[in-house]
Amino acid sequence: MQSKRIIIAIDGYSSCGKSTIARGLAKHLGYIYIDSGAMYRAVALYAIRQGWLTEKEIDEEALHRHISDIHITFNPNAHGVQETYLNGENVEREIRSLQVANGASRVSTLAFVRREMVHQQQEMGKNKGVVMDGRDIGTVVFPEAEMKLFLTTSPEIRARRRFEEMITKGEQAEYEAVLANVKERDLRDTTRTESPLRKADDAFELDNTHIGVEEQLQWALNMFHKITAQNEQN
Ligand code: C5P
Repeated sequence: MQSKRIIIAIDGYSSCGKSTIARGLAKHLGYIYIDSGAMYRAVALYAIRQGWLTEKEIDEEALHRHISDIHITFNPNAHGVQETYLNGENVEREIRSLQVANGASRVSTLAFVRREMVHQQQEMGKNKGVVMDGRDIGTVVFPEAEMKLFLTTSPEIRARRRFEEMITKGEQAEYEAVLANVKERDLRDTTRTESPLRKADDAFELDNTHIGVEEQLQWALNMFHKITAQNEQN
């Protein structure tokens, strides 16, 4: 018998491997993976393109007025990897730049942006069977999620991984700039007034600084099986 589908919430700092575990779990379990960070990135890209988000300021009023014009969806590519669409356009590559990452970290501090994204995320998870990663998934989006993970990794390791990923993709990058970006985003994520990043009381914390991807995935799958077995008994 197939066990009842649940919601898996994975939170943590930027670039600490949340999406790798989330994708791996979703693939193993036949669940849908939702990258909530990609949604804030898509909002930032939209605002940058409209000229509402510059290095210096955000035109909050304009963004607020048009927030409901921003429709974000996910569709698998030919290899089955989920990609992000902004109003029907594939923006997967564009949203991964440092400029957009920074913009996302800034627009995500705005209450009306979070309200809209949280609403869209809750809609995506209403039939369960989803793995969603982000900063506030276990605390705000799905406080009732049956399984919650909170990942941590040292900033230096995160910056190194991110830097290598960018180089592999043929992007221009400097390690120091990536490290500074990681630290800046951590600070903004943990100190903002709206849904700051924090571990939910009932989340399992995993420091993966010295743990490989396969081992983490195995650990998470074991936890999943324990939780679903317990749920069946209750
Ligand atoms: O996870 P990722 O780095 O792609 O997220 C981009 C930015 O969006 C983060 O720096 C964070 O500030 C914000 N974010 C958020 N809440 C989420 C997911 C991401 O505030 N649930």
